[in-house]
Amino acid sequence: MDSRPQPVLVVGAGPVGLAAANLLAARGVPVVLVERNTTTSDEAKAISLDDESLRTLQAADLHEPVLRIVVPGTGTRYFDRKGRPLFHARGPEPYRLGHPFKNQFAQPELERVLVEALAARSNVHVAFGTELTGAEETEDGVLATFRDMATGRTSVLTAAWLLACDGGRSTLRELRRIDMTGTSYNQVWLVADTLGDEHDERYGMHHGRPDRPTVIVPGRDGRCRYEFQLRPGEGAGGARPEFETVRRLLAPYRSIEPGQVERSITYTFNAVVADRWRDGRCFLLGDAAHMMPPFAGQGLNSGVRDAANLVWKVAEVWHGRATQALLDTYEAERRPHATAMVTFSERLGRVVMTTSPGRARLRDLVVRTLLCVPAGRRYLTQMRFRPPAVHRDGLLLRTGRSDRRLVGHQLPQPVVLVPPGLRPLRLDDVLGDGFAVLGVDVPGPAWAALPAAWPFTRIDVVLGDRMPRSAEGRQAIADIDGRLEAALGGVRGRFLLVKPDRYIAAIFGAGRLPMVTRELRRHGLVVDVATSAGRPE
Ligand SMILES: Cc1cc2nc3c(=O)[nH]c(=O)nc-3n(C[C@H](O)[C@H](O)[C@H](O)COP(=O)(O)OP(=O)(O)OC[C@H]3O[C@@H](n4cnc5c(N)ncnc54)[C@H](O)[C@@H]3O)c2cc1C
Repeated sequence: MDSRPQPVLVVGAGPVGLAAANLLAARGVPVVLVERNTTTSDEAKAISLDDESLRTLQAADLHEPVLRIVVPGTGTRYFDRKGRPLFHARGPEPYRLGHPFKNQFAQPELERVLVEALAARSNVHVAFGTELTGAEETEDGVLATFRDMATGRTSVLTAAWLLACDGGRSTLRELRRIDMTGTSYNQVWLVADTLGDEHDERYGMHHGRPDRPTVIVPGRDGRCRYEFQLRPGEGAGGARPEFETVRRLLAPYRSIEPGQVERSITYTFNAVVADRWRDGRCFLLGDAAHMMPPFAGQGLNSGVRDAANLVWKVAEVWHGRATQALLDTYEAERRPHATAMVTFSERLGRVVMTTSPGRARLRDLVVRTLLCVPAGRRYLTQMRFRPPAVHRDGLLLRTGRSDRRLVGHQLPQPVVLVPPGLRPLRLDDVLGDGFAVLGVDVPGPAWAALPAAWPFTRIDVVLGDRMPRSAEGRQAIADIDGRLEAALGGVRGRFLLVKPDRYIAAIFGAGRLPMVTRELRRHGLVVDVATSAGRPE
């Protein structure tokens, strides 16, 4: 078993590195975070944060400061080729994970909040102006080499693991010769974050005009994001656009002064996935592992999902509660969904942002036809076209057909009633940081079958409008609004094993315990088998 005194090295203070460092530190793991630049970035990038990212940030007590910088509960309104509204999309259940489904924000502000949170943690050392230049595998860690960007001086550090959150041009990927597979597009977009804007819609607007596909997303305090697809000859990717170009593109929507352009850039995009996400003790996360067109607003959110998935595993191994085998489940669980999101973002862009008048006409016709049918309307307005985050491989055990609806999915986060005093609490505040076993209307004696040594939080889920009463060693919870019943009513009398990232690993009755235990061990978790009744397996 591995138990490392060394810190974990996080490379890159973009949103993914900052989230990963905060999550690691919150789990008691010492972290060194290095960033090549002298500050966090001020680029016009992500503007949409989803409910899963907010839930992840909640695990490090960051959701409240982050909620202060977002416009919560936004949606997207799609317009046809002639500017007529087509439909308004929101999430299927806006609060399924305990937070609004879609939230507008500015990436530089999120990075600022996350870096401030790191400064308040005693087990994190942040080094800006420090570039990773080498990463050699040693017997018990990674020997990383750095260059100080101001003095050119070299330094070294041995880390237990290296989390490369170093973006699309990842140094680690280059050092370890890991390729990316997919397509790079030469379509150029201009992005401008503006101030003093009069748009007050609490939703983003996608205008599917084939002559000039355009995105407009109003933000807080008179801020507004504009994105325009440029025509050939109007500009190249990666440059700061001339103010005159910004003014001309904005003219149909508003007048603007140079001081009202908060930030602007032109960019091209990629739809690529790294061929390997793990190389020894080094892992790729975020844009270093996958890059996607921004039309689904999922690049950063996918990176935060990577951090949520990997960090608890690294922490378990660091604390000596699991072997390194557990770390192999990271790529197995995350790669399929990230790949699906890359493909989806590509397709969405091709449909919504097409420059072909014929394809735009066909799109509008198909959408209007779908809207006439209830199932089609639900599919569009509830964004059911977005690939759901589900694990199909990794640390999970499906024992029956009925499990498919839950195993591999994230447990919803309703507000629940908790004794004593029937306090309303968010479910995650009851689940704690580690694994949790939820007995869904399981009779008290049935709990004795669970191994006493399983260091998992035990929760009695009390359904059917009954009072929750906690027994020794278990916390009871009850429904407040029917959402617990809706989520778990189908698995009465069984146990749910929920991983620290809130994904459901297994649903089982007492008879399946040996199988569950074997599965946990197979993936490196150190679990004892003595039962509460003192019986060995
Ligand atoms: C126009 C636009 C709109 C977008 N909208 C959305 C959206 O609405 N929602 C969404 O989820 N995503 C969106 N995205 C994508 C999102 O911005 C990226 O996915 C996100 O920035 C990736 O974060 P990251 O931390 O992985 O990488 P980055 O943000 O690229 O950060 C990587 C960091 O690593 C540092 N670094 C690199 N190499 C080294 C080294 N050798 N040593 C030290 N440091 C190093 C870099 O300086 C950088 O600070 C959008 C992108 C664009 C361009």
